[in-house]
Amino acid sequence: MGSCLSAVDDVVNDFIDQQSRYYQESKNAKSYAAKKNDNNTDTSSSHLSVVLKSDLSPIYPSLPKSAKKYHCRNVYDGDTLTLDDDSRVRLIGVDTPELKEKQPFAIEAKEYTKKYCHGRDIWLSFDSGDSTTNKDHYGRLLGFIWVDLEGDARKSKNCTQWLCVNEGLVAAGLANVYSPSGSKKVNNYDKLLGLQTLAREHKCGQWKSYKEQKVIVTPSGGAFHKCEDTNNVASDCKHLSRSKNLKLVDSSECYDKGMHPCRHCMS
Ligand SMILES: [Zn+2]
Repeated sequence: MGSCLSAVDDVVNDFIDQQSRYYQESKNAKSYAAKKNDNNTDTSSSHLSVVLKSDLSPIYPSLPKSAKKYHCRNVYDGDTLTLDDDSRVRLIGVDTPELKEKQPFAIEAKEYTKKYCHGRDIWLSFDSGDSTTNKDHYGRLLGFIWVDLEGDARKSKNCTQWLCVNEGLVAAGLANVYSPSGSKKVNNYDKLLGLQTLAREHKCGQWKSYKEQKVIVTPSGGAFHKCEDTNNVASDCKHLSRSKNLKLVDSSECYDKGMHPCRHCMS
């Protein structure tokens, strides 16, 4: 556990250190730059325009106007926590490795969220609407968690102080961008994808051992599947048994589009 915790500290410190690098390099991030002048401007919120000025840095000079203060009693895992009133919050737009399934970096993801949220005041904002309209079928609130950075992190970023934990998890390589199939993509979806690409390029967290590979996709599916033989675009995965027009692509291309590894054949 000790080594895990220090590994988490390293990840978190790397993450903080890299913010200035992210800021510079984000200007060259192809996936983000191509989109940022087009469909990523939301004029309905002055907070988002501030976000865009700071490019990909997940550290913000202010909170979104709609954010409300809560107190976090407990962190359940990387993307789920409990408030003082017993309501559960699921961080929206991201998916962290599963603790129950002992997936790699599940502990680190939990420690990351715990470090910023456990026993602390947190601020919650929603993609749109309010706490009554943002619940999943488990009754969990779906939102973005904001925390006030303290200490060294604040000093080193003299004009900024707010971290969106959802984005921070992705930037630290401890969560994948996630959008349940059929649901509307969160309003900072492109930004999350840009952070995920940078985390991969910097080999943060779970991306340390990432190896580019050819994977199989369908024309419209959100998942990509294992390819055993690049000379033969076929798969034994049960989810592909009826699929046609299978195609081989690079795994990074899939991640950049927000696709996720098939839970059946890629885990
Ligand atoms: Zn599969």
